[in-house]
Amino acid sequence: MRKLIAGNWKMNGSLAANQALVQALRAGVGTPACEVLVCPPAAYLAQLQQLLAGCDAIALGAQDVSEQAGGAYTGNVSAAMLAEFGVRYAIVGHSERRQYQGESDLLVARKAQQALAAGITPIVCVGETLVEREQGLTGFIVQRQLSAAIAVNAARLAEIVVAYEPVWAIGTGQTATPEQAQQVHALLRAQLAAADATAARQVRLLYGGSMNAANAQALLAQPDIDGGLIGGAALKAPDFLTIIGAAA
Ligand code: PGA
Repeated sequence: MRKLIAGNWKMNGSLAANQALVQALRAGVGTPACEVLVCPPAAYLAQLQQLLAGCDAIALGAQDVSEQAGGAYTGNVSAAMLAEFGVRYAIVGHSERRQYQGESDLLVARKAQQALAAGITPIVCVGETLVEREQGLTGFIVQRQLSAAIAVNAARLAEIVVAYEPVWAIGTGQTATPEQAQQVHALLRAQLAAADATAARQVRLLYGGSMNAANAQALLAQPDIDGGLIGGAALKAPDFLTIIGAAA
């Protein structure tokens, strides 16, 4: 399975900063063994489409997508609109959106469904908080979050990507150990297999949460870690390129 290294820029960037970052990535990426993805803020998708023109090595992704196909939904961006700008992937259900926008498991599952309908691969994010981990609820939480996505997208399960992002590891510099991450990834793989054994072998499971140039290799060496969703380290070209190099 070809690994996927995805940069989640979150609400960072500017016309000038994006140009410099993409220039550096294009100059250094070569012909990567893995698939590479950058997810800028929606406002910059058109700029990124231009900056990435003619670059086969780096794909374009969105950080969110509407659960609606179109119409009177002020502020939303539909999957079809994203597709018009060359968007191939959309992150859905990132923990920051679950926390600050109150997104539910079902809403996230519907967003994934809309993405698939427009030919966009959804990256469905799951992950427990520190309190949930300490209470021994990690497996319960991530399986509950994934079960909605499975139920709504059962017919196209093989086409989704799942990202395990423990909330306590995001932006904190506190990474899950390779063993901790692998343990949860194995649970998620088993859950997918129970729904569809063939699909489970095709779904890429990304790890996210303070993945960086120093720890990427050990995480990516785990049998059920098929890539990474990278925040902070994706904003620095040398770091992101090192992570890409670690995903052989
Ligand atoms: P981080 O963010 O790499 O800065 O921890 C990862 C994410 O939230 O996707």
